[in-house]
Amino acid sequence: MSWVDVYRRDGRLEGRCLCGAVRIEVSGAHLAGIGVCHCLMCQRWTGGLYGAFEAEAAAVTVTGPVTRYASTDWSERAFCTTCGSSLWLRNTDKADLPYELMPGLFAGAAEFPLLSEIYTDRRPAYLPLAGDHRTKTRAEYERDNRAIEGDDP
Ligand SMILES: [Zn+2]
Ligand SMILES: [Zn+2]
Repeated sequence: MSWVDVYRRDGRLEGRCLCGAVRIEVSGAHLAGIGVCHCLMCQRWTGGLYGAFEAEAAAVTVTGPVTRYASTDWSERAFCTTCGSSLWLRNTDKADLPYELMPGLFAGAAEFPLLSEIYTDRRPAYLPLAGDHRTKTRAEYERDNRAIEGDDP
């Protein structure tokens, strides 16, 4: 059992982008907690803070105009084609991998706690995040995971 398992939920959340053209429904397994990444790709994509919660692919239904950007050979970042709202980050090197969904789209995610923060040595001075969540620097993260291409100033 992993330390995150206590945050696993099986329930329903509804979200939408800024203009409302994209609707995302989560109905099923997801993680009721937020992971933050301060890598430079995430900072550029969001313009600031990237945080997301995981949802199983089978639980996610998306409708509306979505553009997918292949930010690496093995991942995509999706946004609303109309208004540009960031929607999700997802690995694409296997079928049906989980979504990392942007919590700001979902009213039901507002109470999710912060679980983890990675690339802490890339964190901007204006973004201190409080609490006793787990943290990893870039080197600590990349020791156990694929390096994030494009994490260059
Ligand atoms: Zn939109
Ligand atoms: Zn990142």
